[in-house]
Amino acid sequence: MQDRELYRQILGIDTPWFVEGVELKLAEGEVHVHLGHQEVATWPCPECGADGRLYDHQPERQWRHLDTCQYQTIMHAKPPRIECGEHGVRVIKLPWAEPFSRFTALFERLAIDWLQAANQSAVGERLGLSWDEMHGVMERAVARGLERRKAEAVPLLGVDEKAFRKGQKYFTLVNDLERSRVLYVAEDRTQASLDGFWETLSEEQVAGIRAVAMDMWDPYVASVREHVPGADGKIVYDKFHIAKHLGEAVDRVRRRENKTLRAAGDDRLAGTRYDWLRHPAAMDAKDRREFATLRNSNLRTARAWGLKEAGMALFEYHYERPARKHFRWWHGWAVRSRLQPMIEVARTLRRRLENILTYLKHRVTNAASESINSKIQWVKYTARGFRNKRNFQTAIYFHCGGLDMAPSCH
Ligand SMILES: [Zn+2]
Repeated sequence: MQDRELYRQILGIDTPWFVEGVELKLAEGEVHVHLGHQEVATWPCPECGADGRLYDHQPERQWRHLDTCQYQTIMHAKPPRIECGEHGVRVIKLPWAEPFSRFTALFERLAIDWLQAANQSAVGERLGLSWDEMHGVMERAVARGLERRKAEAVPLLGVDEKAFRKGQKYFTLVNDLERSRVLYVAEDRTQASLDGFWETLSEEQVAGIRAVAMDMWDPYVASVREHVPGADGKIVYDKFHIAKHLGEAVDRVRRRENKTLRAAGDDRLAGTRYDWLRHPAAMDAKDRREFATLRNSNLRTARAWGLKEAGMALFEYHYERPARKHFRWWHGWAVRSRLQPMIEVARTLRRRLENILTYLKHRVTNAASESINSKIQWVKYTARGFRNKRNFQTAIYFHCGGLDMAPSCH
């Protein structure tokens, strides 16, 4: 029969498998392809590959395949079970699908490609997949990808925290700063949240870690110290987090001063919050002139801002000795500034100095995490239908994990 040969070719079915029959269900828009196999002496054991004799067949199963001529195409077969001397009775590996999947490998691959490019409801509609089926595809894809990742080196890591929704519980993320991808997602931001990450790595991967960028957050520090040999020389407090802490201190000074000024009828500082956080280079000429007047004034906020800028100059140094000298000078200025928020940050930075200076050696920041963050925003945005955090985690791995997720079969 010609249509059987045609479907054998379209579906890529090879001996000993053949197409037994093709059934067109026009009303349903479906093609059902029934597969059978020739009698062969032995089949390879799925576990060890040793030859095993046919034992029996499982009841018939179905797999959704790529559509043919816009018809949903469903394959039917009875999976053979064999008997292996070592492993007993086992279902053989089928050439068109992974174990337990209700889709063929090709269909699953197509679904993965689409899900990476478009939002879930669109894919679900076009491929005729339910929400649960799509999550099944995504979860299997992620599991495959995580398994394959074990062989890759991950020398530069960034640990970051992220709120699931504004004001809600936190997630801990570990990013691969070299390849801009998420390696790990866990609930919360405790030591235990990060502890789980190290278990996903091989010994070689842990030994190959050169630097870990993070905010000054003790639970993360404790976790790295416990799991990474030589951690003290590898933890790098992230430059952008430090800039953020300094910026927040400037803002506390500004808010307090603004109150005092306004009480005296002076509203020079009102509405200037973001001017103190922005870089003057990012302002237009008029804003820059106005801001120059402010920052050259004798306001306390202007002094705090100057402190912040001078503090960040630390990261311009290439050598440790002049950097330490600069810090000593800066710290002295800050603690004598009589600006309480600045004094507090200066003390924190002094306590943390050793792992700030590691930046000079490793030059890593969490900046790479920014591109990952915008992707996560997209996931959050398209994922309004997430019913739980586990689905959210799967989606982050799926979209931001840079994983090799295609199904493999024989
Ligand atoms: Zn075996």
